[in-house]
Amino acid sequence: MSEAPIIPADPKAAYLANKAEIDAAIRRVLEGGRYILGGEVAAFEAEFATFVAARHGIGVANGTDAIEVALRALGVGPGDVVATVSHTAVATVSAIERAGAKALLLDIDRYDTLDPEALDAAARTSKIKAVIPVHLYGQPAAMPEIIGIARRHGMAVLEDGAQAHGARLGRQAVGSFGDVAAWSLYPTKNLGAIGDGGIVTTSRPELAEAMRQIREYGWRQRYISDFAGLNSRLDEIQAAILRVKLARLAEDNARRRHIAAAYDRALEGTGIETPRVRPGAEHVYHLYVLRTPKRDALKATLQSAGILTGIHYPAAVHQQPGYAGRIAIGPTGLGRTEALMPTILSLPMYPELTDAQVRRVTDALRAVSR
Ligand SMILES: *Cc1c(COP(=O)(O)O)cnc(C)c1O
Repeated sequence: MSEAPIIPADPKAAYLANKAEIDAAIRRVLEGGRYILGGEVAAFEAEFATFVAARHGIGVANGTDAIEVALRALGVGPGDVVATVSHTAVATVSAIERAGAKALLLDIDRYDTLDPEALDAAARTSKIKAVIPVHLYGQPAAMPEIIGIARRHGMAVLEDGAQAHGARLGRQAVGSFGDVAAWSLYPTKNLGAIGDGGIVTTSRPELAEAMRQIREYGWRQRYISDFAGLNSRLDEIQAAILRVKLARLAEDNARRRHIAAAYDRALEGTGIETPRVRPGAEHVYHLYVLRTPKRDALKATLQSAGILTGIHYPAAVHQQPGYAGRIAIGPTGLGRTEALMPTILSLPMYPELTDAQVRRVTDALRAVSR
């Protein structure tokens, strides 16, 4: 096996695929002389908001800050409870605590996202100020059901779109269901910077205004803080790079779906379960996560064939040392989450995978199952 290993994600490949345009975008900023909150950030905010069918976009420093800024704009603070899933990037829960609130962790449905029944049950026993459905792996959460429950119980809805830029549910873009959406622009995400970045989107002007102020010291007018805010700004250079990548995002997501379909075919009849796609959903495969009770053996076999895989995540948030035992869990428990964790494996997934690389993965999957 002399070929180079296939890695799970490759942000450098995304740079090389767009090198001339990205280099030109960086140079434009360097020579323009405006390095913080200039024309590139404003243009990216408008272009990304349009892409996710929102009226307003506000660039921030990273996806974790995006969630915190959105929660603060929704009026969440000390004493409030925010419900979300335990099966997510730890960032979702970290941001809730940074906003001063208490996280309440709920189970997932059969599509690996927030279970509406668990939310309904929790809302009957606790006063929940806001709920954060996470569109995990690029799969839309059950938004119509979640919005219905949130309305009945007076909760705000913040969508965590960090893994799902461009996903849709029944023609509607994720991020446009709730009050506000938070997005990470970390290099390996479907839309990734070359460094840290994040953005919040909303169609409600008063939330947009609040988030703009929270991003920069509570300023409406320069140097005058109406309240105590943060410093969480998206860099001008990153915004210029992101505009290049955003122009290709729909095509990149289509390529991810094409690769996912090839993996699905290779796994047919193997006993390994392919990702479950919610009816009516357009999944954007930030990750291609299969499930099998023989996960560790499959990971080792693929590794010896030069195919490196990931696990997203090795532990749910409530199982991690920094959270275990001190974090609130909803009344219906986390049984589905805990059963899922040891079975999941993420295959290599990024748009620049060549057809030959995809074939190496599918050949290895077919060989494993024989
Ligand atoms: C990546 C991610 C975040 C956090 O984003 P950062 O930019 O790394 O701060 C939040 N939620 C989910 C689901 C993520 O995958």
